[in-house]
Amino acid sequence: MSAPSPSTASSSASSPHQRLLTLWGEIRDFAGIEELLEWDQETTMPRRGVAGRAKALGTVAAAKHARLTAAELVETIAEAAAAAPAGSVEAGQAAEARRQVERAVRIPARLASELAEARALGQAAWQEARRRADFAAFEPHLARLIALKKEEAAVVAPGGNAYDALLDVYEPGATSAALNPLFTRLRGELSPLVKAVAEAGRPVDEAPARGHFPFAAQRALALELVAAIGFDLEAGRLDGSTHPFCVGINPGDVRLTWRWQEDDFRPALYGVLHEAGHGLYEQGLPPAWFRTPLGDAVSLGIHESQSRLWENQVGRSRAFWQWALPRFQAHFGSTAGLEQLWPTLHVVRPSLIRVEADEATYNLHVLVRFELEKALFAGDLSVAELPAAWDDLYAEVLGVRPANAAEGVLQDIHWSMGSFGYFPTYTLGTLAAAQLFAAAERTCGSFAGSFAGGDFSALLAWLRSNVHRHGSTLRPAELVERATGKPLGPEDFMTYLRGILQAIYQL
Ligand code: ZN
Repeated sequence: MSAPSPSTASSSASSPHQRLLTLWGEIRDFAGIEELLEWDQETTMPRRGVAGRAKALGTVAAAKHARLTAAELVETIAEAAAAAPAGSVEAGQAAEARRQVERAVRIPARLASELAEARALGQAAWQEARRRADFAAFEPHLARLIALKKEEAAVVAPGGNAYDALLDVYEPGATSAALNPLFTRLRGELSPLVKAVAEAGRPVDEAPARGHFPFAAQRALALELVAAIGFDLEAGRLDGSTHPFCVGINPGDVRLTWRWQEDDFRPALYGVLHEAGHGLYEQGLPPAWFRTPLGDAVSLGIHESQSRLWENQVGRSRAFWQWALPRFQAHFGSTAGLEQLWPTLHVVRPSLIRVEADEATYNLHVLVRFELEKALFAGDLSVAELPAAWDDLYAEVLGVRPANAAEGVLQDIHWSMGSFGYFPTYTLGTLAAAQLFAAAERTCGSFAGSFAGGDFSALLAWLRSNVHRHGSTLRPAELVERATGKPLGPEDFMTYLRGILQAIYQL
C-alpha cells in the first residue's frame, strides 16, 4: 500500500475520498485537543482547575461525537466506499471509518451521556473508596457501570457475546473464545515456574538497585537512554505525572510521563523505557496517513507489545546493560558491576499489586481480571460477590491473599472508568513483544552485539517496517502473523522467560 496524497479539499466538487479525509481530519483534531487537555490535567494544571477542565473536556467530547455520528460523514463514507477500487488504500480508509462510525452511531445519545456521567462519578467514588479500602462505597457505582456497559454491548452487537463486544473496542477482532486457551496455557506454565523460583531458595540481592538516586540524575539517565533507543526528543518530551502514560498528539508531538522514587532507580527507569516504547510506535506511524482513518495505532495490544519489547526484551537484557552500565555508574556514582546489577532487574516474587508485578507473575494478575470480567458480564458473578471472588482467585493463582480491598479489588482504575475488556490487552502485548523480538532476531541475527555497543537502529528499523508503518491497515492478529510467520502464542514469551529465570535462579 502506498500513502495517499495529503488533501485539503473541502468543496462539494472534490471526490468522496477527499471529503472523507477532510471530515476525518477534523475528528482527529478534536481527539488531539482532548489528549492535550488530558495531558495538561495530569502534568501541570493547578488542582483547582479540575471542575472547569471537566466541562471543557465534555464540550470537546460532545463536538467530536457529533462529527463522528453526523449524517454527512455516514453518507460520505458510503460514497467513498462505492467509488474506491477493491483492495486500495481508499477502500481501506472507508472501511476503517465505517467500522468506527457504525459503533458510535449505534450508541444512543442518552446512553452515551449516562455512561459519561457514571464514569465521572465512578472515578471519584473509586478514589475515595480505595483510599478508605471500602468496597461498599464503590459497589453501587460499579453495578451501574456494568449495567450500562451491558446495554452498550447489546446495542453494538445485538445477540452477541457481551464481553466480546467490549473487548473489540481495545483489540479489534479479539474474542474470549480465542483468549481462553491462551490464558489457560499461560496459567499452566507460569504457576509451576513461579513456584520453582520460590523453592529454588536463591533470593536476589537487591542492594545494588537500592540506595539514593537523585531525581536530576534519574532524569538525565532516562533521557540519555530513550534518545539512544531512537526516541526523537525534538518530536517528544518527558514530564512528571501520578500515573505514567504516553500520548501521541501527532507524530511530531509525542509526550511521555513518568514518576520516580529516589530510593530505587528501577520503577522510574523501566516506566520511562516502557512509555518510550509506546512513543516510538507513535513517532513511527506513517506521517502521510496522519488525520486519516488508517493513521493511528492498530490496537492497545499491539501498542503494549511495543512498550513491553523496549522495556523487557531490550531494557532488561544483559547486552543492553553492557552498554548502559558505565552510564548508570557515572550518573549515580555507583560501583555495582553487571553481575550484581542485572539480577536485580529480574526479581520474581508473587505480590498483590499488578503494576508492581514482575515479568513472571504479571500475566497471572491479568488472568484474574479476565476471569472475573467474563463472569460479571455472563451474569455468573454479582458485584456484591466480587471482592471475595477476587481474594479467592488471588490465593488460588498467585498464592497470596489481599488483607483489604485497597490492595485487592479496588487497586486498578479501569473498572471505575467503565473500561471492561481492557486488561487482556496487557497480556496480548506481552506475548506479542516476545514473538516480534524473536522474529526480528531470526531476520537480522542476534542483536546482542549491537545492543552492547549502544546501537538499537536495526531493531527499530525492523519494527518500523513490520509494525509501525502499517498504521491500522491490518487487524492485530493479522499483523502479528505477517510479521512473525505464526499466530500469536505463548511459546516465545515462555522461552524468553525460562532463559532469564534459568540464568538467575538456576532452575
Ligand atoms: Zn503500556
